[in-house]
Amino acid sequence: MYCGPMLRPLRILAGWLETMASMVSRSTVLRFLVVPALALPLAGCGVPLSAHWQGLPAKAPSEPGAAAESQDAPGAQEGPDCAEVKCVALTFDDGPGPYTESLLDVLDKHNAKASFFLIGKDVAKYPDIVREELASGHEIGNHTWSHQDLAKLSPAAAERELSKADEAIKKATGTAPTLMRPPYGTITESLTKAQPVPVVMWSDDTLDWKTRNAKKTVKAAEDIKPGSIVLMHDIHKSTIAAVPKILEDLGAQGYHFVTVSQLIGEPKPGVGYKTGQHPPTKD
Ligand SMILES: [Zn+2]
Repeated sequence: MYCGPMLRPLRILAGWLETMASMVSRSTVLRFLVVPALALPLAGCGVPLSAHWQGLPAKAPSEPGAAAESQDAPGAQEGPDCAEVKCVALTFDDGPGPYTESLLDVLDKHNAKASFFLIGKDVAKYPDIVREELASGHEIGNHTWSHQDLAKLSPAAAERELSKADEAIKKATGTAPTLMRPPYGTITESLTKAQPVPVVMWSDDTLDWKTRNAKKTVKAAEDIKPGSIVLMHDIHKSTIAAVPKILEDLGAQGYHFVTVSQLIGEPKPGVGYKTGQHPPTKD
């Protein structure tokens, strides 16, 4: 089913709603007004994103001074220029959990930054660890309240899963998550567009959740390339055991370990990403 012509008037409606509700925060407007407005008429257009995504959105060649400007942009973070040097974003889903703290120690030891996609109901169990993640310079993303498949929920139920997790993270840290990742990597295009933060998938799945084997997780990480977004899970002991070797091996190859936002540069709300910036490849 092709739904393109419906999108333009809906975007105009979304823009109008946002303007009219300018007294309310952007996040609230997007979540509570724009999502139902977009999602309901488009319910029949719920195409899995994999059919639409192109990986990294088209990007203008970097200009001198761009880096300086980006310092002032919302969400901009300090770190290496991943368009010039080799970077990778290690991401950990489904935490926080009992092993997360030891992972934070390992990352600190290697001066590595990572991104954590958190389950809202577990944030309340480990608020100190979530605060420590932020304090250590890692990035935090919403991974729903209870790990539901958003593509299978009604728009209202999907929004509840996301907003409850947002609230839990805000309560623990005082700040809202800056990224979102849907469980199982499944989300409709309309829900992606309605998100107040970038939607982050991955380029490299270590399958740590399946193998539960540190050696196999290390082996899977050998496929990492500059610009990779790597999927792991900090709820498995075997994953934590694999991370020191992954950091050593990639560190020896000159990789910088950065957050997803640092890897992408300036990720945009409502846009899906699978990879980030990398230095020009030499033929
Ligand atoms: Zn997950």
